Amino acid sequence: MATATLIEFRNEPYADFSQPANRRAMEEALRQVRSEFGREYRLRIGSEYISTGDRLESVNPSNPSEIVGVHHRADAVLAARAVEAAWQYFPEWSRVPAAARIGMTFEAARILRRRKLEFDAWLVYEAGKTWPEAEADVSEAIDFCEYYAREMERLAAPQPVVQLPGEHGEMIYIPLGVGVVIPPWNFPLAILAGMTVASLVAGNTVVLKPSSETPTIGAKFAEVLLEAGFPERAFTLLTGSGAAVGDVLVGHTKTRFISFTGSRDVGLRINELAARTQPGQIWIKRVVAEMGGKDAIVVDGDADLDKAVDGVLASAFGYQGQKCSACSRAIVDAKVYDAFLEKLAVKTRNIKVGPSDDPANYLGPVISRSARNAIQAYIEVGRKEGRVVVGGQPVAGDGYFIPPTIIANVDSRARIFQEEIFGPVLAVTKARDFEHALELANDSEYGLTGAVFSNDPEHLRQATERFHVGNLYLNRKCTGAMVGAHPFGGFNMSGTDSKAGGPDYLLLFLQAKSIAQRG
Ligand code: NAD
Repeated sequence: MATATLIEFRNEPYADFSQPANRRAMEEALRQVRSEFGREYRLRIGSEYISTGDRLESVNPSNPSEIVGVHHRADAVLAARAVEAAWQYFPEWSRVPAAARIGMTFEAARILRRRKLEFDAWLVYEAGKTWPEAEADVSEAIDFCEYYAREMERLAAPQPVVQLPGEHGEMIYIPLGVGVVIPPWNFPLAILAGMTVASLVAGNTVVLKPSSETPTIGAKFAEVLLEAGFPERAFTLLTGSGAAVGDVLVGHTKTRFISFTGSRDVGLRINELAARTQPGQIWIKRVVAEMGGKDAIVVDGDADLDKAVDGVLASAFGYQGQKCSACSRAIVDAKVYDAFLEKLAVKTRNIKVGPSDDPANYLGPVISRSARNAIQAYIEVGRKEGRVVVGGQPVAGDGYFIPPTIIANVDSRARIFQEEIFGPVLAVTKARDFEHALELANDSEYGLTGAVFSNDPEHLRQATERFHVGNLYLNRKCTGAMVGAHPFGGFNMSGTDSKAGGPDYLLLFLQAKSIAQRG
């Protein structure tokens, strides 16, 4: 195989929007995408494009009167048909040589690169991402395609096994079967693309159910896969409500694995349902579930406070705090607590909030009306549990805007210290010393990301040993994991620690077969 000839993986560079030419190109992409608002997309099983009439409209969260895309909701009958169709095609797809699947995956990366600004614009309008956040999401999707294609190249090659005298031994990786892929809306392209191409390049067939908040981005990515050469029968685009079709997809006898990223409660439900063996089922379903976070940044007594403030600010408020990796707890040594809080408050007050298509705004809207209401309700809880230092007030207007909000003096038993809010709300807690800070940071059922700002090598060593998170960052923000460099996945209730974008990931979509031959 051509492993040696492949160019080494490199992360996709981000467009610099301070350059006038890039700015103009992005403005043009926004205009172009806007001209496609309200278009109708059908769901697809194999080559059959289906209108169910049960319309799902996605809106622009900066201005919810604008309909971005009109989709059709699948029902339980269609969900079952989708799994059956994927099952029918699996034998054929699994025998397509890995090299061909790898080629299609590289081609998907090339097409995404060509349509990058267009995808950026869809993310601005359907997910409420600012330009740089959208650019990072699309770049990550390209990275996943490039990385998993190379990983499959590696895993398709003969695997080293001990050779016994008189026997020829081999171990090969083969696909699992039908995979149900259920992504969240917050990385509506990157996570959706990553879980889908990982499944497909490994030789599985897929039922893809995009989030109902961001179905247009799912439909656009399905176009990319088809253009890249993936056969229609290799994956189904099943738009609709997770609650309505989720149980059928997960519980179906022919479903072999579920690749889920989303909230803790839905992940646990999927895990439980998948564990129930159905009549006629002949395997144990595999569940990869990446779930929520309550991520903490520890600020040590000797930390560089300016760096810590910038790290906390970017981690807490980037994409309105709607990242699983977002910092929602700042745990600060008592020695620098007041100074840190003051500096953070000053910078946070300067953050501009508004429509995400205007690059002057650092913070766009949250995803939906219900998200805005839930976050606002948490702020009200937080008012009783601590002191609101910045933000807290609803922003006028129709868009789903919430100002960046800092709530100080929060106790570790407080709900806003323990529960995932998934919005621009930061709890700040005072620690007696570094030891206490680590204890507080680990006082969570989650364990996804965490960061420590410190200039004490011994403290950094202790954090490396004891801060129980899947992704630990020292003297930098806790968001922005890069494919290849920071394999991503969490401990405890943050999920199954699948380490997306790392060398262990594709194995989750494969099974190893050992073959020994004599004579
Ligand atoms: P969610 O759990 O509400 O939805 C995720 C997906 O599950 C959606 O596609 C949804 O339609 C589907 N779904 C809903 N009910 C279902 C059911 N009963 N059966 C099957 N599928 C169902 O999560 P969300 O609001 O889309 O995303 C935000 C959550 O995702 C946060 O908790 C965040 O921390 C988490 N997240 C985790 C990671 C990670 O890598 N750990 C990454 C991104 C987001």
